[in-house]
Amino acid sequence: MRPQQIATALLLCAMGCGPGRHHWLGDPDLFGVALVVTEDAAPFAQAADACEHLRRTLLATSVYFGFDPADLAGLRIVLQGPPVQCSGFAGPLLGCYEWESNTVTVSTRGVHCLEASPVSHEVLHYFIGDPGHTDPRWTTFVPLWLSLQGASCN
Ligand SMILES: [Zn+2]
Repeated sequence: MRPQQIATALLLCAMGCGPGRHHWLGDPDLFGVALVVTEDAAPFAQAADACEHLRRTLLATSVYFGFDPADLAGLRIVLQGPPVQCSGFAGPLLGCYEWESNTVTVSTRGVHCLEASPVSHEVLHYFIGDPGHTDPRWTTFVPLWLSLQGASCN
């Protein structure tokens, strides 16, 4: 990394990172999100067009809730097979966002496409936190899900 790039990274972090939030080096084609797909993830997550589906989902979710997708830079998204053990929650879950590791982890089990997975739900946690789901925006997902799945889940 050249000094100029380090300065840019620090500047981005100063604007976009909460205290303790890790900044992953992400994929420019995914708004700076670092994508990890484990070997046990569903076939749609391993497919050649998985990035494209994720990109669309990230863009649609950000725009729907009034955020700039560029603000996703530094987030890590892990797509895995089995349900997720989420710190602070007792049982395994379909999805989890952990602030400190700045990581969304999503189970692909029983899900037929990326757009039907909890990715957009967990991305809203990335933007607003709110682990207890008290924000009214949690009740407004249906139109987003319908448009996502109608457009690209087949
Ligand atoms: Zn949630």
